[in-house]
Amino acid sequence: MPPEMDDIVRLSKQRGFIFPSAEIYGGFRSTYDYGPLGVLMLRNVKNEWWRSMVQLRHDVVGLDAAILSTPRIWEASGHLANFTDPLIDCRNCHERWRADHLEASPTDGKLHCPNCDSTDLTEARAFNLMFKTHAGPVEDEGSVAYLRPETAQGHFVNFLNVLQTSRKRPPFGIAQIGKSFRNEITPGNFVFRTREFEQMELEYFVPPADAGKWFDYWCRERFEWYVSLGIPRDTLRLRPHEAEELSHYSAGTSDVEFRFPWGWGELEGIANRTDYDLKAHAAASGVKLEYYDQGSNERYVPYVIEPAAGATRTMMAFLLAAYDTDEIGGEKRTVLRLHPRLAPYQVAVLPLSKKDTLVPVAEEVLGLLQPMAMCDYDETQSIGRRYRRQDEIGTPLAVTVDFETLEDRAVTIRDRDTTDQVRVPIDALVAEVGSRLGI
Ligand code: ATP
Repeated sequence: MPPEMDDIVRLSKQRGFIFPSAEIYGGFRSTYDYGPLGVLMLRNVKNEWWRSMVQLRHDVVGLDAAILSTPRIWEASGHLANFTDPLIDCRNCHERWRADHLEASPTDGKLHCPNCDSTDLTEARAFNLMFKTHAGPVEDEGSVAYLRPETAQGHFVNFLNVLQTSRKRPPFGIAQIGKSFRNEITPGNFVFRTREFEQMELEYFVPPADAGKWFDYWCRERFEWYVSLGIPRDTLRLRPHEAEELSHYSAGTSDVEFRFPWGWGELEGIANRTDYDLKAHAAASGVKLEYYDQGSNERYVPYVIEPAAGATRTMMAFLLAAYDTDEIGGEKRTVLRLHPRLAPYQVAVLPLSKKDTLVPVAEEVLGLLQPMAMCDYDETQSIGRRYRRQDEIGTPLAVTVDFETLEDRAVTIRDRDTTDQVRVPIDALVAEVGSRLGI
């Protein structure tokens, strides 16, 4: 049975993945804080993206650009004029809605307010999603700055810096992970849509004639990334955008979508941004953003293929896909079947009892494993309850230190998914854990 959203929200709160932000003040408008387990898992999601996009390739380099930047970037990119959603006001209850998220009622053919059912709604008007602020002590037009609504423009404005320092040539990419901010009209569905979120974006620069080939390549690569980390293929799909759905810069976009409890939702968009951004920034800044190919003596503006994923939204999809319930020895359990590299902890070290005699050897075992994996250490409650807790937070392996360990210098490894247990000498533990985790 696939989980309901409530299962994930409850588990996140109870176990320390994701908390509603500012809870002691009654919360703050769909913002969330990542707790002790959430921060580990979110970091793992980002690390896995970085590993596949940067570490395992020779044609991609990294970047970490500023969040706060000049309006000139957003004017040139088209975001000031175009980064809008259609906003509708309900004149009766004064709630606001995204017009493209409302559907006409089949009975009277009219739009109804989802809150109070009134049909007294305003016309849709363009609402810009960028957060505006002022940089410096004077709040005038000259000090206006924006929080970035995507990480993407940082890649384009640094195009020459990266080209000159990295010795890369098209096809090559710039990868960036970081926070983005959008003043969403209707945030919701837990961390699916929030106003502050994290993105993982690659801008891949290619000779214009090769853009179609690279677009197809990145659609395949990105789809398979989710599958390789444990999302079942039949809960994923690649959906090409209709012409009227395309962003102002795009010559083609396909979304990787996941089947959320409420239906299909986007995890990532892969877009052919053409030479739109580099040309726009060149025109606005007066600086040529081109590549000179010494071999062919040609100068050209590369096309850009952009796979743009959400780290926070994707983490939620990984949680949903991993959530499972089964029965062990007649007892129900909840288990998160997370990929070992995504799980908050890879190993739990559990001394059978709190007795002083076991603690030194349990700490020795912990010390052996910590350099290779993120470990939890838990000596409270019965061993059965501690196993259940580790199952529920997705820890693939539990290593138990018991009184026999003092005699034979061996420990028990328990597998989360099968609950099988094997006895392993401490001397062979690091190798055994490494091979089981695939790290
Ligand atoms: P949507 O149609 O859901 O608003 P989008 O098409 O505007 O998304 P993109 O601009 O393509 O999204 O952003 C790339 C990725 O960033 C999305 O696929 C998603 O994973 C993530 N993302 C975008 N907006 C949000 C948000 N408000 N909250 C969480 N993640 C987001």
